[in-house]
Amino acid sequence: MKTAQERAEEPPGRRLNSKSSPESITHPNPAPATTLLKSRQKRERSQFHVSERSREFLRKFYPDASIDEWNDWRWQNRNRVRTLADLERMIELSPDELAAIKRHTGALPLGIVPYYASLLDPKDPMQGLRRTVVPVLGEFDTSRGENEDPLGEDSHSPVPGLVHRYPDRVLLLVTNFCSVYCRYCTRARMVGSVGERAVRKTDIEVALDYIEQNTVIRDVLISGGDPLSLDDDRLEYILRRLRKMPHVEFLRIGSKQPVVQPMRITPALTRILKRYHPLWMSLHFTHPDELTPEVAEACARLADAGIPLGSQTVLLKDVNDNVETMTKLVHGLLRNRVKPYYLYQCDPISGSAHFRTPVSKGVEIIRGLRGHTTGYAVPTFVVDAPNGGGKIPIAPDYVAGYEGDDLLLQSYDGGTYRYPDSGRQLPTLKEDAS
Ligand code: SF4
Repeated sequence: MKTAQERAEEPPGRRLNSKSSPESITHPNPAPATTLLKSRQKRERSQFHVSERSREFLRKFYPDASIDEWNDWRWQNRNRVRTLADLERMIELSPDELAAIKRHTGALPLGIVPYYASLLDPKDPMQGLRRTVVPVLGEFDTSRGENEDPLGEDSHSPVPGLVHRYPDRVLLLVTNFCSVYCRYCTRARMVGSVGERAVRKTDIEVALDYIEQNTVIRDVLISGGDPLSLDDDRLEYILRRLRKMPHVEFLRIGSKQPVVQPMRITPALTRILKRYHPLWMSLHFTHPDELTPEVAEACARLADAGIPLGSQTVLLKDVNDNVETMTKLVHGLLRNRVKPYYLYQCDPISGSAHFRTPVSKGVEIIRGLRGHTTGYAVPTFVVDAPNGGGKIPIAPDYVAGYEGDDLLLQSYDGGTYRYPDSGRQLPTLKEDAS
C-alpha cells in the first residue's frame, strides 16, 4: 500500500482515478465539503471586479449567462470564440480577416476568451489588440529567414516538453493550451495543436525526472502554452515536485492569463502560489488597452501574494511600435506593480512579416524612454537570436567617444558631458572624437 506521502506526490489525474484512494474510504460522503468549497468559490467570484464594459458585452452576446459565470475562468474557456460564426457575431470582419479565418487549418487556431473579445474594437481591424488575435492573410506568407522554430528550441530538447539550452536553467512546457492565441506566437508550431492539451502527463513526468536528475539545474521557467491554464491541482503538483528538488533554487512562471483572463487569478490560486516561493512571474503584456480594472485586480492579487512581477512585451508593427504607446504601457505596468522587463524584437516565425519592425525601431523606443521616465519603466530590448543564440540586448549608444582622457557622453536630451576616464578606452572607440 502507498504511503500518504507517495500519494501526495502522484499527479492529480492519476490520484483521482485510483479506486483505492483513501478519500473514498475516509470521506464516504464528501458532499458537505464540496458544497462549502463551491459556495466559497462563488463568493470569491462575486467579489471580482466586473467593469461596465464587460457587463454590457455579457448582456449583448451571452444574455443567458450570469456575472458569476463570467467571473468563472472555466466558463470563459468553455465559451471561447473558436469559429468564424462566433467572431462574426461580435465584430465586423474585414475581407482580409474573413479570408484568413476561412483558409486557416492546423496549429495556432482562432481562440479568444469572451473577456478578451470584449476589449476588441468591433469596427476597426487596425486596432492593436484586434491585430494580435484575429488572423489575417499575412500569416500565410513566409518571408526570408522565417521558420517554424526560429529559436531552435526543438534541437535543445533532450526530452519532450523541456528545453535545456543553458546549463543552469530549463524551460518546462506543461501545456499546449492558451485561452487566447496570439498570432505572432513563437511557439505557433505547437500551441493549440489538435487536442490542445497535447502535452501528456507522462511527458511531464519524464521532464520532471530529467530536472530531478540534473542537479546543475537551479532555475526552472514553467511555460507552455499557458501554465496558468492548468487546473490548480495539476499546477500545484508540478510546483511541489520542483520545490522538493534541493538544487532548484528559483521558479518562474511565464503567463498571459492575468492579462487575457484575469479572473483566473483566484484567491485559491494565489494561496497555492504563495507556498512555493521564491516564485517569480513573467506576464505577457502587449498594449496599454490591456490595463483594465480587472487586470489591475489580478496583478494586485499576485503582488500581494509576494510574487515579483515582470512584463515581457513583443514589439509589434502597428500595435505598440511607437514611443507614446510604449510609454503608456510601461507607466501603467508600474502602477500595477509590474516591472517592464524585456521588450522583444518579434521572432521570425513563419508568416510574421506583417508584425515585424526593423530592429532600429526598438532602439528608437528605448531612446524615447531612457531618461524621459524612471529607469524602472525601461525594459531591456533584446533580439532572441535565431537558432539558439539566446537573448542579445541591443541598446542605444550614448557614448560619443574620447577626447584625451575624457569620455564624452551624450545625455538623453542631446547634451554632451565629459567624464574623466583615466585614459582607459572602451575597446570599440576611437581615441579622439573630433
Ligand atoms: S499566450 Fe503565449 S504561448 Fe499562448 S499563444 Fe500567446 S504568445 Fe503563444
